[in-house]
Amino acid sequence: MVRTSPSESRPLMSASLLLDLVNSRLVLGDEVSDELGDDTAASAWLKAHGHAGTREEIADARAAREVLVPFLRGETDAIALAPWAGAMRKRAELHDGGIEWVDEVDPALAIGAKAIEEWSALQGEQGSRIRPCAAADCQHFLIDESRANARKWHSMETCGNREKARRHYARAKLGAA
Ligand SMILES: [Zn+2]
Repeated sequence: MVRTSPSESRPLMSASLLLDLVNSRLVLGDEVSDELGDDTAASAWLKAHGHAGTREEIADARAAREVLVPFLRGETDAIALAPWAGAMRKRAELHDGGIEWVDEVDPALAIGAKAIEEWSALQGEQGSRIRPCAAADCQHFLIDESRANARKWHSMETCGNREKARRHYARAKLGAA
């Protein structure tokens, strides 16, 4: 994958459209870093994720993100995803050897549908494998591929180390008191 507009605050593009989508907008004070902010950047972002980058897709990606971010933070429930789920169909295609089920999706909702399919595949016995970073001041989401599904931070280098330092400092303070 090619990064079209690198920035230090952004994670590298992952293999997941869903993860990159919910990580594509970060607010730092009055500054908003949005990989889908303007149409040119949004189109390039979609192309980097294997899509055409049409206006329709751009609008859908923005709309889906608007819903997915609060949903993955536990602020809304799954009903918010209904428009995309409703756009997904399976059609039986008849061949001499039998039928084959073919996925069909309304092109205007295809990006959100793909993201929701990914979300669904990340749900399992140990709960969701996509969740917000545990650091209080971090807006990133992470996908946990570990067996225990206990990863807390989107990045050990940034949030993990910061959290460790914070705990160390709190302990030191406690010791000094
Ligand atoms: Zn983080």
